Amino acid sequence: MGGGAAPWWPTPAMCGGCCCAAPHQLHRRSPQVTVPERSSVDLDDAMDARSGCDALDELATTLLDGPRGAVVLSGAGISVSSDIPAFRGSTGLWARYDPTEYATIAALDADPEKVWQLLWELDEVLAAAEPNPAHLALAELQGLGVVSTIITQNVDALHQAAGSEDVVELHGSHRTLTCRTCEHTVTRDAVVRETTRGAVPRCPSCGGQLRPDVVFFGEPLPRAALHRAQEDVRRCDDLIVVGTAAEVEPAASLPRLAQELGARVWEIDPQPSLPTARRIPRPAEQALPALVERLR
Ligand SMILES: [Zn+2]
Repeated sequence: MGGGAAPWWPTPAMCGGCCCAAPHQLHRRSPQVTVPERSSVDLDDAMDARSGCDALDELATTLLDGPRGAVVLSGAGISVSSDIPAFRGSTGLWARYDPTEYATIAALDADPEKVWQLLWELDEVLAAAEPNPAHLALAELQGLGVVSTIITQNVDALHQAAGSEDVVELHGSHRTLTCRTCEHTVTRDAVVRETTRGAVPRCPSCGGQLRPDVVFFGEPLPRAALHRAQEDVRRCDDLIVVGTAAEVEPAASLPRLAQELGARVWEIDPQPSLPTARRIPRPAEQALPALVERLR
């Protein structure tokens, strides 16, 4: 953690510990909230916020009563406010680096120097990122015992940086690299110390090419991580999906699996899209701290 950290809790202007703009019966504290007059243009937003708060209340009550901790599935949306833009979209890396040219295992085989242009830029973004209030709140929810496992599609390791311990990384992690010849593994920090930025990093043991331990297009997900994720989802009563539309298989199958087995699926996202989830249409960095506030 370090300079420039965002405030951990929503400001009182947001309603004193909640994500909405309305007074709230579940507040344990009694914040002196002044609800600003709202124009008719704001009414839809207010209604949206209200429904999100109702769902947050329901989630908080469920977590307090549940015998088992909820499982979380996180995606790129949770790290956007840590200054890691989603890969897709007009500002994403894929707008400048065609993933079919730069992000496939075949491309790494054919032209590692070219692929490492992308990888060094990605490393720079990830190395500068810090956990935001959403990551910190999830770590606290684990500490409170109401969240068990965090399954993430992100490779940024920000859940661990926030203090979370039980994290399943479906797409690997940028924190380590492995030799493509002898499978020797080294830390990202060691590679950065030993390598001129822009060059293809070399194995300190055999001189072979190193690759980051992230999943490239065209590669299967790490078998152990996927198995663990599926097992945890099978056992959970509640799956909280945060910042991901869960469109890409096999991660997309996890919310479906949870629902088929009778678990409740919750979706925290400014633009929720899972068809049958209980929706909390707020950014994760607002909604998750508000959830912690309800559970303290
Ligand atoms: Zn090696």
